[in-house]
Amino acid sequence: LFQVNGHNPGSDGQAREYLREDLQEFPGGEVLLYKLDDLTRVNPVTLETVLRCLQARYMADTFYTNAGCTLVALNPFKPVPQLYSPELMREYHAAPQPQKLKPHVFTVGEQTYRNVKSLIEPVNQSIVVSGESGAGKSWTSCCLMKFYAVVATSPASWESHKIAERIEQRILNSNPVMEAFGNACTLRNNNSSRFGKFIQLQLNRAQQMTGATVQTYLLEKTRVACQASSERNFHIFYQICKGASEDERLQWHLPEGAAFSWLPNPERSLEEDCFEVTREAMLHLGIDTPTQNNIFKVLAGLLHLGNIQFATSEDEAQPCQPMDDAKYSVRTAASLLGLPEDVLLETVQIRTIRAGRQQQVFRKPCPRAECDTRRDCLAKLIYARLFDWLVSVINSSICADTDSWTTFIGLLDVYGFESFPDNSLEQLCINYANEKLQQHFVAHYLRAQQEYAVEGLEWSFVNYQDNQSCLDLIEGSPISICSLIDEECRLNRPSSAAQLQTRIETALAGSPCLGHNKLSREPSFIVVHYAGPVRYHTAGLVEKNKDPIPPELTRLLQQSQDPLLMGLFPTNPKEKTQEEPSGQSRAPVLTVVSKFKASLEQLLQVLHSTTPHYIRCIKPNSQGQAQTFLQEEVLSQLEACGLVETIHISAAGFPIRVSHQNFVERYKLLRRLRPRTSSGPRSPYPAKWLPEWCPHSEEATLEPLIQDILHTLPVLTQAAAIP
Ligand code: ATP
Repeated sequence: LFQVNGHNPGSDGQAREYLREDLQEFPGGEVLLYKLDDLTRVNPVTLETVLRCLQARYMADTFYTNAGCTLVALNPFKPVPQLYSPELMREYHAAPQPQKLKPHVFTVGEQTYRNVKSLIEPVNQSIVVSGESGAGKSWTSCCLMKFYAVVATSPASWESHKIAERIEQRILNSNPVMEAFGNACTLRNNNSSRFGKFIQLQLNRAQQMTGATVQTYLLEKTRVACQASSERNFHIFYQICKGASEDERLQWHLPEGAAFSWLPNPERSLEEDCFEVTREAMLHLGIDTPTQNNIFKVLAGLLHLGNIQFATSEDEAQPCQPMDDAKYSVRTAASLLGLPEDVLLETVQIRTIRAGRQQQVFRKPCPRAECDTRRDCLAKLIYARLFDWLVSVINSSICADTDSWTTFIGLLDVYGFESFPDNSLEQLCINYANEKLQQHFVAHYLRAQQEYAVEGLEWSFVNYQDNQSCLDLIEGSPISICSLIDEECRLNRPSSAAQLQTRIETALAGSPCLGHNKLSREPSFIVVHYAGPVRYHTAGLVEKNKDPIPPELTRLLQQSQDPLLMGLFPTNPKEKTQEEPSGQSRAPVLTVVSKFKASLEQLLQVLHSTTPHYIRCIKPNSQGQAQTFLQEEVLSQLEACGLVETIHISAAGFPIRVSHQNFVERYKLLRRLRPRTSSGPRSPYPAKWLPEWCPHSEEATLEPLIQDILHTLPVLTQAAAIP
């Protein structure tokens, strides 16, 4: 570790060379603030100064600012085409030192790209894009993909140029498809991703992008059957209804102006409602027109399914019947889903229970509310399988052969921290993921500080909020919130929301991150997250965690004559599906939480094996207005991501981190450039630092060598992505 550019590491963890634009010295300093490209240069580094700097830059139409090793991206909420042109991408790519250009998402893109090919640290890279809903994460990820599509394709021949172009097109085309099926208009973002994704861009030895893979997380499948007021279903449903031709409308039973209860707010016209774009992109991914039509037919079937309303049955022994005007919906849904009408209806109306030693089958008509739940469950089951299938089709279309790539750049875009008046299992999972990512982020910075200590550098520790106790509360062993909720699922016993609250509050009373729960009338518990306290309601939590799929529903779909559904629900499924345990079955329950935890662990393993880069997206206001910077709102986002602490560490720390072994490998030739004199001063460095190839190492001095290197460094590292 060493210093460059006169940035002196401070012994107090703060002292460094400040710029002249000192806020306190210059009362009119704000005017100059917009010039500060790096927040490590504001003085003093406080929430207030950082906020003022970001505001000044935002109002001057400067949307990117460095914060040490993190890039802060403010959402402009207006088109800024000149900021994302291919020319600019090439400029950043060609720059000898891109970090000397204005901060930009392309700087991160380029540095990451150079790191992959760097001889110094040729390791896989990842870019973690975080921020709350509507802050610009997907935009940023998409920008990075476009950047790599331009810079990471420099094929030698015309033929390989064509191949590269096709791969690049496919990768870019995966975006509109995933957005159509996985995004929706919410209160906070007209085009909100309702799933998390990790894209790995695969590169060959020549640094060309040869393919990619996508891993998705936690699709919000409940949205198919239930949308909050003023929100909408997934875009694809609106796209079909608005974009289908007359002929298609006839086939899919979607007459113009038809009302569907699962299609709220159709009058809102969004850019995302473009059916043609989705169809075109699907075609590029290899999903032919007949398959597409099959998909849209099934989705139309779901809309009709949603219109089936049941009337309460007077007699408990009799099944609830669909209301008069819903009979048409039953018929149409059944025909579009390739199911016999009577079997579809009966499966939703009647529950079958196996009991006793002989596993006798009992049939029990469901009350109206349960019929609704079963209908919704059917839709969620179909949609979730369809989404997973689409992702697998995308992957098989864009993934490179194992021998045609050597390194990857991972782009992680997951939902940001969420806190609503009513939070449930979905928010718990999302916030749990954010805690894990925050820990990964903190560990990255803490590791740096620990290395300073190990290497004997003068350094006073910058305090960083460690979120381990919060993670212990959520996922720790032997007892945690996850384990308690899972246990309730396993025991399969009737327990009330209040009982779950008591169980959590009693068993985890010792945790400093379990908040005091005084004010709520509804059963709930509070978790004090790094980004603030969140109250989770316990009603329905266990049921959601079980995510039960009545086996009859899966069996029903296995009877479908529709080619797509036959593929999605094979009669002999290789995979074990998450079915409700029938009768006495004691198979281990795969809960939502346990599955999520496993996929999160896998993700973090991949992230740990890479060099991480961070982009923090910030939403300047929640109305989505350009030129509006609401301090309160930005402040809470800055606090939530611990940006000020990051800046402290980056400002005072050492910017270059190269392992000793790689350093020696890279620069050992320099050793031969300068004859070593035995009369020189004794090395100030511990003997263990001296490379093995260095004879009489205890006598050698590395000082001249280091000087050599420091002088040679700018030339040698032009391609090595060193700041
Ligand atoms: P969610 O978590 O809900 O998916 P998000 O953080 O991914 O949200 P985006 O969908 O990327 O947010 O951004 C929200 C909107 O903000 C975009 O649809 C776009 O209109 C606008 N936006 C974001 N970044 C930029 C940018 N750099 N330039 C112009 N507009 C932007």
